[in-house]
Amino acid sequence: MWPFKKPVVPPSAAPIFFTNTLTGKKDLFVSLKPGVASMYSCGPTVYGPQHIGNLRAALFADTIARVLLAADFHVRRVINITDVGHLVGDGDEGEDKMKVGAEREQVSPAEIANRYTKQYLTDIKSLNIDTNHILFPRASEYIQEQIAMIESIEEKGYAYQASDGVYFDTAKLPDYGKLGGIAQVKLMGGARIKVGAGKRNLHDFALWRKAKPGDLQQWPSPWGSGNPGWHIECSAMIRAILGREIDIHTGGMDHIPVHHNNEIAQSEVATGRPLARYWLHEAFITIEGEKISKSLGNEILLSDITARGFHPLSLRYFYYQASFRTPVSFSWEAIAAAHEALQRLWRLSCEVMDEAKEKSTDSEAARRMVAVVRDDLATPAALALLWETLRDEEMSAAEKLGVLTAADAIFGLALVNPPEVEGPVATEDLPQEVQVLILRRDEARQAKEYKLSDEIREELEYRGYRVDDGPSGTVVTPSRASYNRE
Ligand code: AMP
Ligand code: ZN
Repeated sequence: MWPFKKPVVPPSAAPIFFTNTLTGKKDLFVSLKPGVASMYSCGPTVYGPQHIGNLRAALFADTIARVLLAADFHVRRVINITDVGHLVGDGDEGEDKMKVGAEREQVSPAEIANRYTKQYLTDIKSLNIDTNHILFPRASEYIQEQIAMIESIEEKGYAYQASDGVYFDTAKLPDYGKLGGIAQVKLMGGARIKVGAGKRNLHDFALWRKAKPGDLQQWPSPWGSGNPGWHIECSAMIRAILGREIDIHTGGMDHIPVHHNNEIAQSEVATGRPLARYWLHEAFITIEGEKISKSLGNEILLSDITARGFHPLSLRYFYYQASFRTPVSFSWEAIAAAHEALQRLWRLSCEVMDEAKEKSTDSEAARRMVAVVRDDLATPAALALLWETLRDEEMSAAEKLGVLTAADAIFGLALVNPPEVEGPVATEDLPQEVQVLILRRDEARQAKEYKLSDEIREELEYRGYRVDDGPSGTVVTPSRASYNRE
């Protein structure tokens, strides 16, 4: 299944840089094996639907992969499916997430996992993520590998048994917490983890938990029946599928203090090698200043976006307007604007394709596009360059098509194969009251009553139409679908 299909981009010698949480700098990307890039991304805990914050994590990884593919790398990708062992608090406290989901929907944990894995895959496919070239291992399918890794950590003297399970002894590892800085670990992660039930040090974490009454998932192990701690699944699956050392590890910034430092600790003790050379993290999506999260109950799902008539790729466009390392605040207005901008892009790209008659040529702008995204995924700058190109009256259609093709390889916005674009609607096909508003706006414009004509424009926009001034008067396009019309 590996590698991906190679996208069409102009040859470029521009170097690839990524901001690396491990070094705290923007580092030149050099893969362990020439021409091959291995990448692991912490995936969904499938006890409920994935919200648009989780989907930003998937898009972040997809964009990194697209940049590498366009630079001729064979990309070997894994996204894990967490269907066991993840407690609500991310540490060793709280309820088991899969149990929460199973009890909520009155089905088995396996059924919950199937339900929400399916939904996750459907969602990321509608965001134009090619799932055929990613492996999605489930934690429950790698229990033996997790047990073997815990045994190896134990043999090396970095684990101890307590009454409720087996723990990693962080005091034995002088560089524990090196990702993002130990101070951050103490501040953010440590505060949540209580020393209890025989845990020796504040940051020690469970490798194996002994079964408790009411546990729905358990497996036999050398330490008795139970289930693995959450962090060990990633270490064990990376080892089993991608090898001892990988190029890139991705995830949300919430994983830096605890989960990723624990992955590093386990893997590096078990294999004696650095786990990943580049640790890349995306910032949160927030709503009204709060991180979107299942536990806060402020989730927005992709289905909420499409239910309002916005194209799923509007979310992709929305994310690209900001750097992945910047927190982004979600609003329905911003999604509506992204939807509209995308419709315009598609319309313009159709015009370019018609004019270019499918012939594209290389240009300085296309090479610049590639160089911009290779510089730490500078998607806002790349989008600006795309708009600049499409508006450039000097550039030929063939050159524009070259830029569109190069941009599409990275953005995955269907720029060169746009779906049916919503176009302007003939006036007689519009609702009666909209026809009246158009007539009144045209009269106001003729009478130079611009305040009134602007008010009518706002009214039309409120009703979900984009308003343009055509040669014979107002032209409206129903671009916002059901938005604003509830
Ligand atoms: P989870 O299902 O909670 O394990 O999360 C799956 C992925 O989504 C992880 O990489 C998280 O770091 C990431 N994530 C969770 N919430 C957000 C958010 N609000 N914004 C961006 N990424 C997030
Ligand atoms: Zn992980």
